[in-house]
Amino acid sequence: MRKTTLDQLPAADRQLVEAAAAARENAYTPYSNHKVGSAVRTRSGRVFAACNVEVVTLQQSVHAERNAVMAMAAAGERQIDAIVCHGPYSGVPCAECRQVIWEFCCDDPDVAIIGSTLDGEIELMTIGEIYPSPYGPGTKGIDPRKF
Ligand SMILES: [Zn+2]
Repeated sequence: MRKTTLDQLPAADRQLVEAAAAARENAYTPYSNHKVGSAVRTRSGRVFAACNVEVVTLQQSVHAERNAVMAMAAAGERQIDAIVCHGPYSGVPCAECRQVIWEFCCDDPDVAIIGSTLDGEIELMTIGEIYPSPYGPGTKGIDPRKF
């Protein structure tokens, strides 16, 4: 994991952080007030942004990263190039989101994960660093791009 600042990022990554921050504005979090935004950039260059959405029972709440990945998949995209997690403190995706992100990394451990905090701190990592022994479609010989 490497720390940097927003202004040091390449323009495409800065725009991805900005998309995540804009999506965060729509977070529905009446129970925790823990607002998170996420944005996925696909290998084809498309961007899908989303926020977290809570449900009163909390177990059915969905994290921003998962909503962004599902929006990507619903649009027919299957390969993540980079994903931003923008929240109040650490921008490191939770374990469940790592699993969902890995589903569409197409066995590439170098997919970029960009953590972004409200204080402007940026943490650069790869899915391979934060999910080093993945269980995913490749484990079963599945290539998500074929589905
Ligand atoms: Zn999560």
